[in-house]
Amino acid sequence: MDFNLTEEQQAIMETARDFADKEIKPVAAEYDQKEEFPWPIVRKLSELGFMGMIIPAKYGGSEVGNVALAVSLMEISRVCASTGVTISVHNSLLVNPLLKFGSEKQKQKYLPKLASGEWIGAYGLTESSAGSDAANQKTTAVKKGDRYIINGQKVWITNAGVADVIIGFAVTDKEGRKGNNISAFLIEKDFPGFSVGTHEKKLGIRASDTAELSFEDMEVPEENLLGEFNQGFKIAMDTLDGGRIGIASQATGILMGCLEESARYAKERKQFGKPIGAFEPIQWKIAEMAMEKDASRLLTLRAAHLKDIGVKHSQEAAMAKLFSSRAANKAAWNAVQIFGGYGYTKDYPVERFYRDAKITEIYEGTSEIQHIVISRPYLRD
Ligand SMILES: Cc1cc2nc3c(=O)[nH]c(=O)nc-3n(C[C@H](O)[C@H](O)[C@H](O)COP(=O)(O)OP(=O)(O)OC[C@H]3O[C@@H](n4cnc5c(N)ncnc54)[C@H](O)[C@@H]3O)c2cc1C
Repeated sequence: MDFNLTEEQQAIMETARDFADKEIKPVAAEYDQKEEFPWPIVRKLSELGFMGMIIPAKYGGSEVGNVALAVSLMEISRVCASTGVTISVHNSLLVNPLLKFGSEKQKQKYLPKLASGEWIGAYGLTESSAGSDAANQKTTAVKKGDRYIINGQKVWITNAGVADVIIGFAVTDKEGRKGNNISAFLIEKDFPGFSVGTHEKKLGIRASDTAELSFEDMEVPEENLLGEFNQGFKIAMDTLDGGRIGIASQATGILMGCLEESARYAKERKQFGKPIGAFEPIQWKIAEMAMEKDASRLLTLRAAHLKDIGVKHSQEAAMAKLFSSRAANKAAWNAVQIFGGYGYTKDYPVERFYRDAKITEIYEGTSEIQHIVISRPYLRD
């Protein structure tokens, strides 16, 4: 068993780390406070190839794989979880299902623009009454000639206002069995009837764009059906297996940021004539963070590796997400504690990490849903 990254993965991780430290870290707090999408950062990450990491070379990507993507997302999220989720959603929730379920024509049309970052991707599954119960879709798609007419609303969509193409889900058979009556569509922002609604004001990841999407008699050409008719829910769930590796990477990155900042501060800050790192309660917190960072990283890279070699990874992705999101929240809570009163202010990044960590337990399946996914095979008759 080899726990080492390949030379290529190591080099990509170092590029991501270097870029994160030099270009993202100095401005992350400002984008968070302004609740502004970090376009200059995303553009530069696109130039460096981070939007095409799982796309084959023939479509303009580098195809370096999911382990390389995971370690990059960790390094980016270590300084800015908003940028982390932006890149994660593009790669794992849009590019990934397009690669797996798309027709050759769809791949040729969309992948080169997505690989270069000229186009950004999003994933529209959630509706006001379809959250954890995602199969309870109310959006409908009705075939009319060579188009589908789609009506409905999606809520909480990451990248909604910045995306050029979105994978959207809609009921295509009203009488059909729940979960077998939904189809997936590739929706372009310029399709008639498409609009972006209210942008959400959030607790954390405030530089990530989150908004509603409205489809009003939106016309989608029939060739934009993704995968098989009425098989969209399976595509949605399969896609989330990959997406959860992205969120586990984001959570691991937040944890890494908490550990780095806490260790540095514990060496600098003196009380009672000693650095606070000399006190046992601080050492315990640092030790827990270090141990859980390694465990999160290993669980996440195991899932990413399985994805790279084409092995089903639903359980492993759910375990990685559940564990790392819980560990990130614990680490952020302890990081603020290590910083004392200073941790409660916007002068130090741990306040932002504390707010950012929470979302990793909610989106792409809450922690409660991950427990269900993980326990399912053990409880099956
Ligand atoms: C910032 C942000 C970005 C998002 N980005 C996207 C995106 O890009 N695309 C997208 O499609 N969606 C996105 N979402 C939606 C997200 O995936 C949902 O919010 C999430 O799946 C939970 O759904 P809900 O909010 O409706 O909560 P609910 O499903 O209403 O859950 C409420 C509570 O009940 C619990 N619960 C529900 N059902 C069960 C059950 N069977 N057993 C035990 N507990 C249960 C939940 O765990 C939770 O604690 C985003 C959400 C946020 C906040």
